[in-house]
Amino acid sequence: MVRFPDLAFSRPDAATLAAARTAVEARLEAGDLPGALALWDRQRRDYESWSSLVHLRFAQDTADAAAKAEREYADALEPVATGHATALKQRLLMLPDQAALAAAAGAHPVALWDLDVTTFTPDIAADLETEAKLAAQYSELLASARLSISGQDVNLAGLAPYAEDRDRAVRQAAERQRWGFFAAQGEALDAIYDALVTLRHGMAQKLGYPNFIPLAYRRLRRVDYGPTEVARYRDEVRQHVVPLVARLLERRRAAHGWDKLRFWDEALIDPAGNPKPIGGHDELCAAAGAMFTRMHPALADFWQRLSGGGFIDLKNRPGKQGGGFCTSFPSIGMPFIFANFTGTHGDIAVFTHEMGHAFQNWESRGLAAIDCLWPSMEAAEIHSMSLEFLTHPHMDLLVGAGAAERFRRMHLEASLAFLPYGVCVDHFQHEIYANPTATPAERHAIWQRLERLYMPWTDYGDLAYPAKGGRWQAKPHIYRSPFYYIDYTLALCCALQFWVRAGRDPAGALADYVALCGRGGSQPFLGLVRSAGLASPFVPGALAEVVAAAERELLG
Ligand SMILES: [Zn+2]
Repeated sequence: MVRFPDLAFSRPDAATLAAARTAVEARLEAGDLPGALALWDRQRRDYESWSSLVHLRFAQDTADAAAKAEREYADALEPVATGHATALKQRLLMLPDQAALAAAAGAHPVALWDLDVTTFTPDIAADLETEAKLAAQYSELLASARLSISGQDVNLAGLAPYAEDRDRAVRQAAERQRWGFFAAQGEALDAIYDALVTLRHGMAQKLGYPNFIPLAYRRLRRVDYGPTEVARYRDEVRQHVVPLVARLLERRRAAHGWDKLRFWDEALIDPAGNPKPIGGHDELCAAAGAMFTRMHPALADFWQRLSGGGFIDLKNRPGKQGGGFCTSFPSIGMPFIFANFTGTHGDIAVFTHEMGHAFQNWESRGLAAIDCLWPSMEAAEIHSMSLEFLTHPHMDLLVGAGAAERFRRMHLEASLAFLPYGVCVDHFQHEIYANPTATPAERHAIWQRLERLYMPWTDYGDLAYPAKGGRWQAKPHIYRSPFYYIDYTLALCCALQFWVRAGRDPAGALADYVALCGRGGSQPFLGLVRSAGLASPFVPGALAEVVAAAERELLG
């Protein structure tokens, strides 16, 4: 079995990357198309594996100077690698026999390359490096937060248990700490974002786009929908989900007997206290093993490899990057999951979520082309978010039998409440990049206006910074992964369909899920959605049906 501590990948440089491309071109010139494709695929797997490891090491300790220097080296090399990859894609797309190319490489990878070549020219190589640097600056700034609550020193991730404490004063104090940090860093955060927006707009113009929006869609490899469909989906959320979330919050306010539901009350979803994991890291990992054994042999076997091989880092600690993600080492077929356990129900959501990504990546490892190992991200989030719901019947193992039903209701309610926020983050970015010269104050005003549209219940009380429109600055995706956020909301529409299906036929739903994971990124989003018998989120009414089911479940 492969073990994470033993991983080592050869470190590329500009010369080895150039030599690698020459070797592929030599095979093409010799008329050996399959040989050229196979060699290039292997090279890209090796490069990706090295790059993943470098970025992971930095995320594990953002204060480690050597890890930071290596990440900077990788970020500087990335546009060089993209330049070679783009040149090879262009060359392949110019081959006279395109039918032979599609037969050898697969039609979907070729369609992706066709899109990829429109997102890069050597003119923007330096800009891409700067973009990566600015994104890392944001991560470092957030990871540097040292906060104090209830006599404890914590980082931003460590605030989570206090932010959902049953004691209202503790929750309020947690939000004061959080937003005090953002207020103090407000100017720096505005400056980083301003630089990112200007830079991205400039790159789009160099590539011939009117603004960054079409470039962002192409970078995210969205081949089968555009901003019009996304805007329609946001309207669906506003129409079907916003009123239901308003009712759920009003019910919560009444249950507590509060005069108003404040921002710091939103995280306490269950009036009896949000159910917590049965124990810390070790207990949760052991319970997860039992759960996956109950669920499916493929999940059980994979968890053994992942945890046994050390391909997990789930504990929160000082200097560690916040949030959770799954990365992968395609040359050995293994993924890795990264999270920050905080002792709250969020541990279970993050864990089942990232495990969904990892399992999909593992199930797809046999697909021929590296381009298919991950689907585009809205499809990838179906794998992660569906596993959050498919593990529902086994929550007795993770939160205890007495709290399992309460956990399921809490998770469903939190998922619904996420949708308006998720589309707000997306709508905000569309407005930002359509108006790239807006001032920081204007950007805060845009957020404020959209927040009233999608989350009219939000009441920040005396939290001055978010009350003035600063909440978006706490969302890493807005800085690091522009336009990604809608993907969670599209995938949630699909994951809720799996939840409904699992209610009728648990074994069938799980089998469909495992099969979908195996298809990885072999098709574009809507193709994968269809292949699993799911309704497209872009079809009017797709959300109405699942929201009605959730409403019956939660409001009876
Ligand atoms: Zn995810």
